[in-house]
Amino acid sequence: MPDLFIDGTWRSALDERTREIRCPADGSLVGVVDEAGGKDTVEAIAAARRAFDEGPWPTTPAADRGDLLLRVADLLGRDKDALARAESLDTGKRLVESEYDIDDIANCFRYFGRAAAAETGRVVETGTASVDSRVVYEPVGVCALITPWNYPLLQTAWKVAPALAAGNTFVLKPSELTPHTAIHLMRLLEEAGLPPGVANLVLGAGPEAGAPLGDHPDVDLVSFTGGLQTGRRLMAAAAGTVKKVALELGGKNPNIVFADADFETAVDMALTAVFLHSGQVCSSGARLLVEDSLHDRFVDELVRRASRIRLGGPFDERAQSGPLVSAAHRAKVEAYVAKGLAEGAVLRCGGARPSGPEFEAGFYYPPTVLDECSSDMSVVQDESFGPVLTVERFSREAEAVRLANDTIYGLAGAVFTTDEAKAQRVAARLRLGTVWINDYHPYVPQAEWGGFKQSGFGRELGPSGLAEYREAKHIWRNTNPSPQGWFA
Ligand code: NAD
Repeated sequence: MPDLFIDGTWRSALDERTREIRCPADGSLVGVVDEAGGKDTVEAIAAARRAFDEGPWPTTPAADRGDLLLRVADLLGRDKDALARAESLDTGKRLVESEYDIDDIANCFRYFGRAAAAETGRVVETGTASVDSRVVYEPVGVCALITPWNYPLLQTAWKVAPALAAGNTFVLKPSELTPHTAIHLMRLLEEAGLPPGVANLVLGAGPEAGAPLGDHPDVDLVSFTGGLQTGRRLMAAAAGTVKKVALELGGKNPNIVFADADFETAVDMALTAVFLHSGQVCSSGARLLVEDSLHDRFVDELVRRASRIRLGGPFDERAQSGPLVSAAHRAKVEAYVAKGLAEGAVLRCGGARPSGPEFEAGFYYPPTVLDECSSDMSVVQDESFGPVLTVERFSREAEAVRLANDTIYGLAGAVFTTDEAKAQRVAARLRLGTVWINDYHPYVPQAEWGGFKQSGFGRELGPSGLAEYREAKHIWRNTNPSPQGWFA
């Protein structure tokens, strides 16, 4: 069955190209999918444009749009096992993590399904009896939705659900490395009764299948999640036709541990912060800032536990962490560690590929801790997107805040302390879109997600996540028109 979904029809790429998808854990063939080129994407944009301009989706009552999203949430629940398996095969992540993701994805559709109907506009009080004035919300138009490989369907849901809730049409381009759950989602949208042309899917590489989404005049909005360099490129491309742009980019996220923190909790969460999904998480707590007086004890214990983390494939129930997504990504992480060591970091654990026949065909890299780092090192500034923790020391609260803010990024981070006033003071001064206090990684669909500084702009999830996909239109009606006589 072909994999591109354009104008309600499944079809192959115009030039009939395909791509093999292999599991990062063992190199086994997961599937062969159609690989779109720029011409396929232009057709998908045209279909989305027609579906927007000729309706019915943009003018479907918001409550009905919400109902469709709620049906999709149920279908995601029905297909949870197949979706989780497909996500694990494409990404190499542990099955249990994929299962959590599918629950989160269904919740995201549920949240936007309910939000769709909740806020439809407002009356504006003008103080003039002969005027009625109101603000209504309308969809932006054709949305280009471009997503990465680390949480393939989750990142897709964060865009597809609010875009549909607001009445837009879209072209989705998921990462070329992890296409299978996006294909499955299109089938669920079809099954739920979405009209043809509203949802379109192109698979393929960024520079070919993705590029028209950035500069095509029929695209009204680009919502992108991925790396900083790609985000900059898309923003520049979108400037030509002044598209609305939302960017969710990288992070180099600080995890601040004060000496008065609960030791067990802080060690446990520092490990989860950075080693979850082998560090391939945008909000990964990859920079540990630990108070000087606690440093030795804390880092010794963290290294002891990090060294014991068991690596393995997605279906190995004993595994605590999986492979990296590709050979190229592992090479990038290795180069990053080598640079850190050349800059003077001290290797405390990891730093070399694991040995053993079970690791040979996969892209494994062990949890790695680089101690005695300082914020002028590139290893501290650049995003590795792998299981690599840098450790810096601080001795005063103000110094912790200064170091934490000393990167171009501003996505997320945490502070661990038992002093509530200190926690709140520090949280208030961190230039981050999300701050966790005595916790790491949780999020809820009701609260916004997004970055400060070069981690991007625009928000996902929460009420502002929906607002990204709407235009506010002011309609002023003169109920008693008569000549004004200014130029009589
Ligand atoms: P990437 O920038 O390489 O690719 C992301 C997507 O953009 C892919 O679908 C890719 O094919 C596409 N793309 C690449 N070039 C393009 C072009 N010229 N035109 C249009 N599309 C193009 O990122 P990645 O390696 O897939 O993902 C990892 C990055 O994503 C990390 O930096 C991570 O921090 C970031 N990320 C951020 C968040 C967040 O919420 N802020 C969430 C997840 C991942």
